[in-house]
Amino acid sequence: MTSYNLLLLPGDGIGPEVMGGVRKVIGWINARGPDTFEVEEDLVGGAAYDDHGASISDATMDKATAADAVIFGAVGGPKWDAVPYDVRPEAGLLRLRKDLELFANLRPAIVYPALADASSLKKELVEGLDILILRELTGGVYFGEPKEITDIGNGQKRAVDTQVYDTYEIERIARAAFELARTRQGRVCSMEKRNVMKSGVLWNEVVTATHADGYEDVELTHMLADAGGMQLVRAPKQFDVILTDNLFGDMLSDVAAMLTGSLGMLPSASLGAPDAVTGKRKALYEPVHGSAPDIAGRDIANPIAMIASFAMALRYSFAMTDLADRVEAAIAAVLAAGKRTADIAAAGDEAIGTEAMGDAIVAALEEAS
Ligand code: NAD
Repeated sequence: MTSYNLLLLPGDGIGPEVMGGVRKVIGWINARGPDTFEVEEDLVGGAAYDDHGASISDATMDKATAADAVIFGAVGGPKWDAVPYDVRPEAGLLRLRKDLELFANLRPAIVYPALADASSLKKELVEGLDILILRELTGGVYFGEPKEITDIGNGQKRAVDTQVYDTYEIERIARAAFELARTRQGRVCSMEKRNVMKSGVLWNEVVTATHADGYEDVELTHMLADAGGMQLVRAPKQFDVILTDNLFGDMLSDVAAMLTGSLGMLPSASLGAPDAVTGKRKALYEPVHGSAPDIAGRDIANPIAMIASFAMALRYSFAMTDLADRVEAAIAAVLAAGKRTADIAAAGDEAIGTEAMGDAIVAALEEAS
């Protein structure tokens, strides 16, 4: 019997509503044991700004550092559009990612059989799709220096962003990719632009060398990132884990996301390096969607992305593979039974609310056990 510590940060807008679904699942797990979760909740984003003038406090950061995993809802909304840039709601999330050194961003794209018709691609191309995009999150062109716009005279300006990667940054994300692949179908496709970018040449070299250093059981292939984008919409089921940098990962993960239909269905995880002593990684789990102020407070948001993010926590932070499988199967069962929130309901179908969807998933968990 082990008790794990979770920090729940529901945030703003629909964040607290969809987090309700996670609370229900945790309640179900705790009632059954043997392992249980001790839950602490705190403020982040606009809610934290309203309370104490910062989008995340040092005390909350301390709790996040100490927790076994952070479960994050969403932040932001028009109410905080005019607050100073460094305390805007999103700054709380960026500080969490930076201070916890969450360099590996996992974006699964799973098509539940009952929703295969909702994809913009043909049903046969996406039915049963289960791929994972692993994006490097703390390096590359979004952070490289120099990053500036300078006046070069004659009415001209020059904008510079710097794509920069060091060996260690590529090596640690490559290791994460190979280890994740071992828990799946055992295949990694690394994507870069080595034909035109030096960072792509180094990326390719380091991924290849890391693979040779103890991961030969995993199949490694390489693809140019632009060709990868084409293949994602031509034949997405050919992939298992796609490993890529921050910039290409940003784009490719959004492309893959849309293969699956709705924003309300997409979970994500961000992981740090394994601790040298305990082997445990710092981790934050969050839905891909934002705070959806347009539908907040109406009990109509889809909690599935949030609950599926918690299932990722069970899988990647707590090695509770069986429980993670069961939560995902419960989501699939509820969808197969025709239950839909408004965002995934077909025209004319009756939709259920956020609370009811959470209850239905817990009922399906109970029924299957
Ligand atoms: P959004 O993801 O909040 O919403 C986009 C659209 O999708 C909206 O129409 C919304 O109603 C719908 N939607 C989103 N999640 C849904 C769900 N679970 N169920 C049903 N429908 C859902 O993106 P946006 O409107 O561009 O941004 C709103 C706010 O959220 C902004 O302040 C933005 O900065 C913030 N944001 C935060 C995060 C985050 O916390 N990680 C991510 C993206 C956007």
